[in-house]
Amino acid sequence: MIDVLALLCLPGAPETCVERTVPVGAANCAAAEAAARPRIEAWRRDYEVGAVRCGPMSAPPLNFEEVGPGLFVHVGDVALADPDNGGDIGNIAFVIGDEAVAVIDAGGSRALGEGVVAAIRARTDRPIRALVLTHYHPDHVFGGTALIDAGAEVLAHARLPEALAVRAESYLDQGRRQIGGPFLGSGIPEVDRTIDGSEVLDLGGRLIELQAWPVSHSVADVTVVDRSTGTIIAGDLVVDRHLPTLDGSLGGWLTVLDDMGGGGVTQIVPGHGGPLLPWPDGVAPVRRYLDTLARDLRALLAEGAGISEAAARAGQGEKDAWDLFDVHNARNATMAYTELEWE
Ligand SMILES: [Zn+2]
Repeated sequence: MIDVLALLCLPGAPETCVERTVPVGAANCAAAEAAARPRIEAWRRDYEVGAVRCGPMSAPPLNFEEVGPGLFVHVGDVALADPDNGGDIGNIAFVIGDEAVAVIDAGGSRALGEGVVAAIRARTDRPIRALVLTHYHPDHVFGGTALIDAGAEVLAHARLPEALAVRAESYLDQGRRQIGGPFLGSGIPEVDRTIDGSEVLDLGGRLIELQAWPVSHSVADVTVVDRSTGTIIAGDLVVDRHLPTLDGSLGGWLTVLDDMGGGGVTQIVPGHGGPLLPWPDGVAPVRRYLDTLARDLRALLAEGAGISEAAARAGQGEKDAWDLFDVHNARNATMAYTELEWE
């Protein structure tokens, strides 16, 4: 497989350069360069592009664990994105069928997306047909362009393109500031097809079922059920260790937790932590946190507490149960307060 490699340097900081791969997997150099041209041109708008050459991919494969036959999961750090973890803080999964591969989430940087392609190629030469985005948060989407270059069609919730477009500039800015060098080359992945309701993808002897949910953890959550292993890949609707992050509706989220599962599901790949939790018990901590937040906020509203006092006090009983509690809890409480005050 021949890819294209390009040296990208930050304009204004020419000492910050990285080599990125455009993983087009062509039969020869000329075909590889033709296939990679749109990506290289897009990079020229944001970076100084140095040497461009064809050759085998330079990105190291990301580490994946086979948690069930043909189902692979990479577990990101439970942490905030920084230069050391390179934005590798969200889980990524892929499923290999007899004919094709589907990837669920793409990691928080272009470099990670290239590492996903390398990890898949280390296991199979079947085409990467689909990238399913479980939602639009940056730690799950910014590797997406590498999978697009490798041939994947991007599937997401019908509300995702707009939600991502609204946040695009601030997410890109935040990635550059928090992650730095490893973020070079990252861009917003374009969605090819949106999902309304549910849809089954046939990867060849292997069916995966995509489900788009009402507003819950975010405004655009999708889960994927891999029927042959009885696994639901839940995105951030279910998290482990990492505090749940509310960016949609607290009430909606609790309802979706009730409606998930069924259809032979016995285990969960969460959006953070894991890699595997039992169904349904693995959902219990998220539900407990959301219930606690709702109960505390209703009590605070009843005593007339303002939003900043509520943000400081609600959910505190959950503090020791989660990582990143102090980073995300006040924002969760603020969002839920504005929802519950209209009850
Ligand atoms: Zn996440």
